[in-house]
Amino acid sequence: MHIGTLVSYDGGMTTIDTTTNELVSVNPATNEPAGSVPITPVDAIPTIVGRAAIAQKAWAAKTIEERAEILRPIGPKLLEAAERVGTILTREMGKPLAEGIGEVTYAAKGWTTEIDEIVAALEPTVLEDDNRRTNLYHDPLGVCGAITPWNFPVLMPHQAILPGLLAGNTVVLKPSEETPLCAQAYCDVINEHLPPDLLQVIHGDEKQGKALVQSDVDLIVFTGSKAAGEHILGSASNGLKRVILELGGKDPMVVLKDADIDAAVEFGVRNAFRNAGQVCVSTERIYVDDAIHDEFVERFIAKTAELQQGDGMTEGVNIGPMISANQKSLVVDQLNEAIADGAQVVHGGGEMDGNFVPLTILTGLSHDMRIMNDETFGPIACIQKTTSDDEAIRLANDTPYGLGACVFGEVEHATQVARHIEAGMVGVNSGCGGATGSPWVGAKHSGYGFHSGPLGHRQFCQVRTVSVPKG
Ligand code: NAD
Repeated sequence: MHIGTLVSYDGGMTTIDTTTNELVSVNPATNEPAGSVPITPVDAIPTIVGRAAIAQKAWAAKTIEERAEILRPIGPKLLEAAERVGTILTREMGKPLAEGIGEVTYAAKGWTTEIDEIVAALEPTVLEDDNRRTNLYHDPLGVCGAITPWNFPVLMPHQAILPGLLAGNTVVLKPSEETPLCAQAYCDVINEHLPPDLLQVIHGDEKQGKALVQSDVDLIVFTGSKAAGEHILGSASNGLKRVILELGGKDPMVVLKDADIDAAVEFGVRNAFRNAGQVCVSTERIYVDDAIHDEFVERFIAKTAELQQGDGMTEGVNIGPMISANQKSLVVDQLNEAIADGAQVVHGGGEMDGNFVPLTILTGLSHDMRIMNDETFGPIACIQKTTSDDEAIRLANDTPYGLGACVFGEVEHATQVARHIEAGMVGVNSGCGGATGSPWVGAKHSGYGFHSGPLGHRQFCQVRTVSVPKG
């Protein structure tokens, strides 16, 4: 069964109900409907984008400071709504309630703190040589089509909406068909304070996403799978649309022989199983030096046993379900194939009811196995023994992905190893996220363009120069 069952007006996906044209979002913990939104007809999308283009002219005519003043009061309103929107998020996506509310709170606080950061990043800069003085501007691009996934169903839209609007663009958002309700609720709060058509939300599945890409948008901001990103990059060539693609990952964690084992285990367990492994920067592959491998595995098992799976609305639950039966079967197929190929289950495995997959730890792995190559996006921690730093680096880099990574060990040693990891973001003795102002950036097939930080904010703009000769 598909969560967020698409009740499609043209019979596109799982369930057809021509009487309602509604997209019904289903709670993955209970398989009960969580609510519904109207599906946007594909042929209405060019008109919606046309309205966004008209609204963009007046919005772009304002200075960035004027736009900032209009957007600023929205942050506190989002914060006030965090508990309500976070509860909707948990009911339709499954993550624990504290994480659902936490995600909305993080986005709402970001709305406030990021405004000044974006304004500063987009200020004109002056370049001068002996002959010319050049003003370099970060101008609006036009209409931004944002297409987002279900795993962070409020934060991912937020990361397109705020820099998109502040840069002087208008935004047409298509949230995931699995999580339309919380994205709509978040945008409803924003839209109470915005002039019409600056932010519009359309609903549907990849048909609506493809139609948005094909429409007259100027920039596509996409977060989602590598396969969809590749398709979008091809389609965007029609009209030479700008793209920002934040794609999937297969993040490695390297544990060196001089690592603090407890700190590495603490981080590895949290980052392998958080959100049931449905995180783009989940730790999916762990390479542990032979000298500490067995002790690491033993403590990893003990720490994992402390976690409680269940309905995210239940107190004490740390890990929710897979988003859908489809996602569960993708994960279980990889797991069963790995076991058939010789991987050993040292914790978990077996069956669980509903959309749940047991928290599972595998050892005895090799890169001949699909589970060490394809993105899993489920609660499976794969631990492989290594005999040298060079081998750990080679295995960590043996993937077309390059989103996040981390290295645990003595700081200087780990930092040296980190410089050899082919990922956009590498954390030493920590997760991959950087200090305030860092971009969220993927290398290799994990990204094409990126967002966040001054460098990311500028990707929502047209860079333009005006040069004057010196007298
Ligand atoms: P997905 O690619 O299946 O769908 C993402 C969105 O794109 C949805 O709204 C979907 O309807 C739409 N879509 C699908 N195919 C499309 C197409 N051809 N044209 C236009 N729109 C299309 O991804 P998902 O299953 O929703 O999310 C999980 C994936 O997202 C994982 O691969 C994960 O790693 C990735 N992700 C990456 C980041 C990051 O920051 N790099 C963050 C979150 C999730």
